[in-house]
Amino acid sequence: MPNQENDILAAAGHSNIETEFYSPIPDGYKPGRHKYVAVLGTVMSGLGKGIFSSSLAKLLKDKGLRVAPIKLEGYLNLDSGTLNPYRHGEVFVLDDGMETDMDLGTYERMLDQNLTGDNFATSGQIYRHVLDKEREGGYLGRDVQMIPHVTGEVKHLLRSLAVKQKSDVVFIEVGGTVGDFENGFYIEALRELAFEEPGSVCFVALTYVLEPKTLGEQKSKAAQLGLKKLMENGIQPHMIACRATNEVGPKVREKIAMFSNVPVRAVFSMHDRSSIYSIPESMHQEGLDIEILSILDLHSAVRPREEDKARREWAKFVGMLNAQRTHDITIGITGKYAALRDAYASIDKALEHSAAHLSAKINIEWLDTTEMDPTNPIEIASHLKDLDGVIVPGGFGARGTEGKIACVQYCRENKLPYLGICLGFQMAVVEHARNVCGISDAASSEFDPNAASAVIDILPEQKKIEGLGGNMRLGGKDVQIKPHTLAAMLFGQEQANKTFNVRQRFRHRYEVDPNFIERLEDKGLIFSGRHPEHPIMQVLEISPDKHPYFIGAQFHPELTSRPLEPHPMFMGLVAAAIRHANPDLPAEQISSRWLPTVAQAAS
Ligand code: GLN
Repeated sequence: MPNQENDILAAAGHSNIETEFYSPIPDGYKPGRHKYVAVLGTVMSGLGKGIFSSSLAKLLKDKGLRVAPIKLEGYLNLDSGTLNPYRHGEVFVLDDGMETDMDLGTYERMLDQNLTGDNFATSGQIYRHVLDKEREGGYLGRDVQMIPHVTGEVKHLLRSLAVKQKSDVVFIEVGGTVGDFENGFYIEALRELAFEEPGSVCFVALTYVLEPKTLGEQKSKAAQLGLKKLMENGIQPHMIACRATNEVGPKVREKIAMFSNVPVRAVFSMHDRSSIYSIPESMHQEGLDIEILSILDLHSAVRPREEDKARREWAKFVGMLNAQRTHDITIGITGKYAALRDAYASIDKALEHSAAHLSAKINIEWLDTTEMDPTNPIEIASHLKDLDGVIVPGGFGARGTEGKIACVQYCRENKLPYLGICLGFQMAVVEHARNVCGISDAASSEFDPNAASAVIDILPEQKKIEGLGGNMRLGGKDVQIKPHTLAAMLFGQEQANKTFNVRQRFRHRYEVDPNFIERLEDKGLIFSGRHPEHPIMQVLEISPDKHPYFIGAQFHPELTSRPLEPHPMFMGLVAAAIRHANPDLPAEQISSRWLPTVAQAAS
């Protein structure tokens, strides 16, 4: 076979500036060593490309292959940090501080793998790179064009990821839908990649099968048209996933197969199901994993023993998810974006993980604190009295914060389990300062820039320490846990006699003013987690002998909760909520691991 890919790659080097190719190859890259799976959407967006892609990636990871996902966003923002979660879903923060789309959370959870900024790109990042490079004279006198230069940089980015993360397979999810203006150059880059490295790229198209109520049957026309659009772009899919409300029947799958040159065995029904976590197993049952190994010639890389173990562990979790739950509990979540669940996607998932492990059925009540009268305790009680636990999640701005503080007060006084996350941690500090320490004008300078007693404040000298200027403190950082506390018990019972560090993810600008720490602690608020060197408070709690579960984190525990390893703070909350709902149930019947005993905390 002529070594076409090498010819092309050689021609793409900088040696020949007359070439029409522009395909810079990163150092150490060996064509054919890395494979790619490109996942594209047709018909409409929001089909769950990330779910499909991460499930398939998981199947290959379980087989012992190294996988790296990447999301290619069409928008011009340099990251997701400035996006409104109300419109776009939550901002998911990676360990290296990159602020990304919530799909990266799906990948981290499904793959149980920490990702970095290299696993996320936007058009804005790519254009900025191209423009900077042009100014540096990096294009050797050429007029810089969408093709081949911008597409060339996209290929370079994908190949660099493969080299950097030593991936056997890179999973590329293109945001939006085929035919969108914004993502056209990504799709063209992928076509070029497949042209340059034949046999290395598997194209997967997601499509949608309509089932109009009035007809009562599934119709494939929209799907056919969407797939045709993809083929117009020079891309022949190898595999098709059909989103639908109900399982897509064989006739419709045959029709889609016939019109798109894809074998029926590679047309998968990805219909609605109660949990996304069962998708990998049903893909396996349908043989999609074997299909992809054949397409990419990867059969010899499989390690069956690893695969058996991984599948057994996952099946155990899915079994817990599907099992009949023993305990019914209701958790209230306050939030400005209460109308939109995607804004709190990771909290939802973290609760789902803990609930499965503790056999709880969680009913979530969204509490709109902007609608509550914070000065009316009877009204506050009417919203909270039937709950078994409350979460005040992260947030920005003043709206609804007085209502949140009133909710914290209710939880503290009525021994209702409480988990405060980031803003919820700060609200607990303000509440304690006002109602326990008697600092009646305590506030956060985020809501009241002139507050006389800003117990929560921007502290420039601390910002200097972190080297982040006025920006947010972002990403994974160490938190030092104090022994003999609720936090120590949650993060590692066996180590609870000595100080230890845990790594957690942050996204905040304000923090506790160290001048108030002593007064707050004198009155019973325990700062059980802090920065290992500086006086930055990161976990607070009320001792378990005074309150069944009252804890707050300046970080975001929900971002690192994983199906097989739920975050301890959520496990603690759910266990405490179960006990709240069943006060007479012996602790062992709930969980001896996750319910603090007074002796432990006081020892
Ligand atoms: N607005 C607060 C801060 O910037 C809390 C941030 C958050 O909840 N993520 O510190």
